[in-house]
Amino acid sequence: MTTQLFVPAFRIEECLAAIRECLEKGWTGLGFKTVQFEAEWSAYTGLPHSHFLSSNTVGLHLAMHMFKTAGGWSDGDEVITTPLTFVSTNHAILYCNLKPVFADVDESLCLDPEDIRRKITPRTKAVVFVGIGGNIGQYEKVVDLCREHKLRLILDAAHMSGTRVAGRHVGAEADCAVFSFQAVKNLPTADSGMICFRDASDDARARKLTWLGINKDTYARTTSEGTYKWMYDVEELGFKYHGNSIMAAIGLVQLRYLDRDNAYRRQLAAWYEQGLAGAQDVKVVPVAPSCESSRHLVQIRVPRRDELMLALHATGIYPGVHYRDNTDYGLYAEGRGTCPRAHQASTEILSLPMHLGITKHEVEKICTVVKAHVSAR
Ligand SMILES: *Cc1c(COP(=O)(O)O)cnc(C)c1O
Repeated sequence: MTTQLFVPAFRIEECLAAIRECLEKGWTGLGFKTVQFEAEWSAYTGLPHSHFLSSNTVGLHLAMHMFKTAGGWSDGDEVITTPLTFVSTNHAILYCNLKPVFADVDESLCLDPEDIRRKITPRTKAVVFVGIGGNIGQYEKVVDLCREHKLRLILDAAHMSGTRVAGRHVGAEADCAVFSFQAVKNLPTADSGMICFRDASDDARARKLTWLGINKDTYARTTSEGTYKWMYDVEELGFKYHGNSIMAAIGLVQLRYLDRDNAYRRQLAAWYEQGLAGAQDVKVVPVAPSCESSRHLVQIRVPRRDELMLALHATGIYPGVHYRDNTDYGLYAEGRGTCPRAHQASTEILSLPMHLGITKHEVEKICTVVKAHVSAR
């Protein structure tokens, strides 16, 4: 048996047909499929403004940049964040010359609102919340806390495509939610993402900034006459961050399968939970009861995780770790020692194989290997 952590499932014929449409039309860039994907993502999530990007990473940077410049934040102002994430989350803070202040996680591995509260200072401007594995943890309390303290809330929703809370897609509560459609996420393309601002004015500004700051309004006003296409204005320094029609073409196909795929992921998670129930020393990371998780991950916690990892490798099972405590990296060493629970978790967590090619039988075998190894210690 070889069981990888993630294997994306592409609907190949449908994706190829959609890409062919772009090629035949001679339109692979911004516009055409990107516009359609934005509209369908908004319809799917209920989020009013969706803007398609080349990745989630650029979206996090963009959001941070926009809130910093609009809010008049100074270099060195603070953003509260988690040490248990992919580094994109925290790089976005550094890109803007802001200071990441790490708060600890709770048993869901998401930020603990109590520790956020303790880490608020007069220089705190924003919180970045990561819905790890598609879980919301105590997100609702973090939303309230940000309102109370007038902090910007950015949701790194890289794992949350399809996550619902009380029947509604997550994201509307944040100032900005950023999704990832990278190759191994729940809605895989190759590389792309979606940024969803709460306010229309932020969305409008973002659309200029993701195309170098070019204000297309002038262009739009004159296209009907087919002239003066170059007569646009550039009002502020932007980036080349928008997505393209080839990625959107794949995304539109994958979106049609997202709910079905996530339902299967939840089924896999339920099988893992059954298979590991009662196992000594193996704890499945819990999902908040109010959350219908996208189930990007199923994470377990075990003492002496690295030994179990080797034992699983020996039987052809390749789990992952989400994530290494970011303060263990040289770049974030300043935060070392500030989040003991996240640090402990990062030595114990293991993400079990989670993709649409896994069968119930494989889940049972993986659980058997995990239990045999842990009980043989
Ligand atoms: C994948 C991921 C990102 C980055 O997404 P890209 O689309 O690859 O830029 C950011 N945050 C988290 C938590 C992720 O898992």
